[in-house]
Amino acid sequence: MRCLLCESLSLTHICKSCQTKFLKPSLYKRQLENGITLFSFYKYEEIKELLYTKHTDIGFYIYKILAKNSLKLFGDSFDYERRVALLPIDDTPKSGYSHTAILAKSLKSRLIKPYFAKLRAKNTTSYSGKNRAFRLNNPRNFIYREFKEEELILIDDIVTTGSTLSQAIALLQKHNKKVLFCLTLSDVANKQL
Ligand SMILES: [Zn+2]
Repeated sequence: MRCLLCESLSLTHICKSCQTKFLKPSLYKRQLENGITLFSFYKYEEIKELLYTKHTDIGFYIYKILAKNSLKLFGDSFDYERRVALLPIDDTPKSGYSHTAILAKSLKSRLIKPYFAKLRAKNTTSYSGKNRAFRLNNPRNFIYREFKEEELILIDDIVTTGSTLSQAIALLQKHNKKVLFCLTLSDVANKQL
């Protein structure tokens, strides 16, 4: 196959040298409305073309590559006094796979236990390009399923305003769960240079 970025022959969808050159992660953070910290790894402009692939078959491979270059490194260096749960936001499969489940799997470690199908949105109306009022009037209505750990990390692929995460956090808090922080590949609101 050919590398998606440089078109040279490659064994992976993005060749090793493009991964080194273009997918070196940074660590950005901001506080969500409810005070929880959101960590992100890429500026939206840097990887938006790659994120678009989630609507296609190759998205499965691209998301794995993105996760390996960023989230996996974060997971490997994560240190804490006990094991915590990791919940992908709405891991309902679309186009044959779940993009947030791919990200969650990459973080699996001795201290991080990913769970699936614990948090699924009943309302999947797109928030893209919609204002805050629209988002508030169209809540995700997550369906929550119980899991063992009291503390957890939330993960989503792209965060825009953070309202989906805030809704998930509010629901988890109602069930006496503590969200330590949230992770995302890219935070659109991160305009940091
Ligand atoms: Zn390349």
